[in-house]
Amino acid sequence: MIGRYVETYMKLWYARKPTIAAVQGWCIGGGTDMVLCADIIIAGEGATFGYPPSRVWGTPTTAMWVYRMGLEKAKRYMLTGDEIPAKTAADIGLILEAVPDERLQEHSMAFAKRMAMVPANQLMMLKLLCNQTVENMGMASSRQLGILFDGIARHTQEGLDFVERANEVGFRQAVRERDDPFGDYGSRGTRGQVTGDRGQDGRKGVAEALLRFAAAAAAAPLQAESVNADFTTNPEANALLRDDPFAFLIAVLFDQGIRAERAWLAPYLLRARLGHLNPAKMVGDEDGIRSAIETSPKLHRFVGKMSRWLVEAARIVVTDYAGDAGAIWSSSPDADVLQQRLEAFPGIGQKKAAMAVEILERELGVSIGHMERSDIAYDVHVRRVFLRSHLAEWDDRNHMIEVARALHPAQPSALDYPAWFIGKTWCRPRRPDCGNCPIGEVCPKEIARAEFVTGA
Ligand code: SF4
Repeated sequence: MIGRYVETYMKLWYARKPTIAAVQGWCIGGGTDMVLCADIIIAGEGATFGYPPSRVWGTPTTAMWVYRMGLEKAKRYMLTGDEIPAKTAADIGLILEAVPDERLQEHSMAFAKRMAMVPANQLMMLKLLCNQTVENMGMASSRQLGILFDGIARHTQEGLDFVERANEVGFRQAVRERDDPFGDYGSRGTRGQVTGDRGQDGRKGVAEALLRFAAAAAAAPLQAESVNADFTTNPEANALLRDDPFAFLIAVLFDQGIRAERAWLAPYLLRARLGHLNPAKMVGDEDGIRSAIETSPKLHRFVGKMSRWLVEAARIVVTDYAGDAGAIWSSSPDADVLQQRLEAFPGIGQKKAAMAVEILERELGVSIGHMERSDIAYDVHVRRVFLRSHLAEWDDRNHMIEVARALHPAQPSALDYPAWFIGKTWCRPRRPDCGNCPIGEVCPKEIARAEFVTGA
């Protein structure tokens, strides 16, 4: 599998035309494996390079380091995993140059245009001439060794211990523990990018801005795709979600690994294909459900898993709630009790259960007690916004839940929707649109803090 990644990275190297990497923020680990394959590397001065997996759990797969900066310097950084600020990277030849962050795009584009004045056939020959010299030095075999060692490093005792620790305390914390003795990367806390206590006032300002945004969104629904007021762009599908509790439950189950709009439309389409959404009928009809989900266009990418979850959900509704999914929440349960009831369904974990509690209360007007016991959903968009806005110190579910409880004790889940929507709309993984972000005025915009945030 690692070899397939490397093949992809090497497309930059083997592309006929020259490639330029304009680097901002962190470029570490696998990021360097890819970027160092580009022909020209220009970085913003705030960028940082490095290969911290040198310390445990990896080796550089594309093995470009020696070829770019020479044996001595490559060993200096490989054998420590130390971080390399952009200016140093330029000084030692790892990259071409470091320019002020705000000029990175413009400068890189100007360089590309300057190169483009040379005929393409000339560029191809010159690139090949340079690259072939490196190939003659044995780059292909270095790369094979890099791939092999990267795999081995993940299975040494130290590598296995690292994975075990990450499973125990979370990847971010395990990485922090790895880097603490060196005092760099996430353990550095300088240049305002990674760590540090931002203070309660700053957090409160962000939380208040999130709540103001949520109130404005409730007054004027924003976009059709939001899980807000209208679940989908189809009024009949929306009506079904509001009128049929089992349809709502199915949508919650579907809301995984696909776009929200598609997940919330699924119950409506499923009913059209099955002819019903009757839990009692669905219990014994896994094949029929599978076929309905699988029929093109597929209702979900995980056909087998989703079919099993639906059958099991139908069984629980029939046996525990007398066939009425509405009975899960019709007795005004407390928020934490309702969340536990939802988490009893296979396919519904903390994230989806917390989201469902919040939507039931906010959008469907379901009476739920003790909303101060509600949670934010530990969702990828929420996590990104919580980290970049420095509401949270680190990426950990319990920590983020605690943060939300401390900042909005009356209803922690109220921070969920605005963070989710902002994360999805403006605070995207790449190129966040801070200029138009509704909390842009109070957010510290610590973009790099969400670098390791992946998942659903
Ligand atoms: S888009 Fe920018 S301003 Fe908005 S939350 Fe993300 S980092 Fe903050």
